[in-house]
Amino acid sequence: MIRYLLIACLLTYSGNLKSIEVVWPTSMDRRTIHSFDDFIQPTASEKTISGCFGMVRDNCRRFHEGLDIRPSIVNNNGEPADLIFSAMAGQVAYINQGLNGPYGKYIILVHPQAEVPVYTLYAHLAAIDQSLRVGDAVPRGKPIAIMGHTSIASSPIPKDRAHLHFEVGLRLSDSFNQWYKEKFGKDEAPNIHGVWNGQNLTGFDPTNLLASTNVNVADVIRSMPTALAVTVRTNQTPDFVKRYPKLVVGDPNTAAGWYIEFTWHGMPKRWTALPAGSSQLPSTTFEIARIDNSYRDSMVLRKILATDSRSPGENLIQNVQILFANCRN
Ligand SMILES: [Zn+2]
Repeated sequence: MIRYLLIACLLTYSGNLKSIEVVWPTSMDRRTIHSFDDFIQPTASEKTISGCFGMVRDNCRRFHEGLDIRPSIVNNNGEPADLIFSAMAGQVAYINQGLNGPYGKYIILVHPQAEVPVYTLYAHLAAIDQSLRVGDAVPRGKPIAIMGHTSIASSPIPKDRAHLHFEVGLRLSDSFNQWYKEKFGKDEAPNIHGVWNGQNLTGFDPTNLLASTNVNVADVIRSMPTALAVTVRTNQTPDFVKRYPKLVVGDPNTAAGWYIEFTWHGMPKRWTALPAGSSQLPSTTFEIARIDNSYRDSMVLRKILATDSRSPGENLIQNVQILFANCRN
């Protein structure tokens, strides 16, 4: 009996070891939050859904890759005064101090201590802690910035709609810069954000991550439904597989290709190595192997599927190209 109790305790304990503590990333008291209405900053539409994750913008035509969290403290000038906190222990990956894009001033952290080393991104900041440098360790709950409404001049955010754009997700490739150069050449705008360019990031809904104080990030990702699967033929190993081994099934070293499961919004959530001779290996380099009908419409809107709702859409093609940017024969 005692032995069984001990085993039960050990199982509980090892469960805790495989999770990471998460804090709410603004000054808002998490205990006051019971629904999206309690913390979401909507767009000018004033609909709460517009500040949530998903195809929530422009009548479901534009994707929003994070959550917009409104201020809980506003100063006499109507400016937000919330501190922004690191949601989990991690390190600084990227700081953008310029007003050169729709995210305005933003900071990205990576979280190697989480079971899957996701990034978190904090955007539209008024100011970022000047002492922070790329590579610095950041404990959970450290103040890293002040909430704001910074953006590029062409898409301003008024102070009464100030918010933290909070994003969490995975990075597609270490070879993104090379892909970008080959795709756009010298004429296109330079890739000022390097491997932290938004096209190289794939976010997921942060709601489940922020809903708890102790989260197993791998479980959060695994629990997302698979909307589509593709097969890819290659003998080389994409760096994504090395960066996120917890999302991989099988032996990457002997793989002749991959069966990759995607969420409806185009995040590769599960990779199965296909050995040489596998009947699942595609005849061309890349094929759609399976589509879940219930996600077809969302995937067409998100351009994961083309308008025929069967062939690959431009965002799926681009994500696969970037994922395999380091795999050239
Ligand atoms: Zn946002």
